[in-house]
Amino acid sequence: MQQDLAIVFVVIWLGLTVGSVMLFQRGSDVKRKRKLWPIYTIFTNTVIGGFIIYMQPPIVLMFSLLVLLIPVTFLTIRSTKFCEACGQVTRTPFFLKPATKCSHCQKPL
Ligand SMILES: [Zn+2]
Repeated sequence: MQQDLAIVFVVIWLGLTVGSVMLFQRGSDVKRKRKLWPIYTIFTNTVIGGFIIYMQPPIVLMFSLLVLLIPVTFLTIRSTKFCEACGQVTRTPFFLKPATKCSHCQKPL
């Protein structure tokens, strides 16, 4: 049972990774990327949260991880910017301030 769930999780995870590449690494529709990014991030972290619950870690650990997911989700959304000029994504480590210029074309974000 536990092993089946791990496989399901890996499959979902691969799907999300492929989806992320298709949606955010390719194309130059910045408006669409900006709109979809928070939805995608919240969905991904909900999947992680669901998996944590399924793994049934000790209750204190489970709650710590779930509570931790909330700021991580928020900071991931905040630290990811999409460049108006080239459509590329710029990320900063999520404990730092959001980037102010594009890491690809150096234009201000
Ligand atoms: Zn750029």
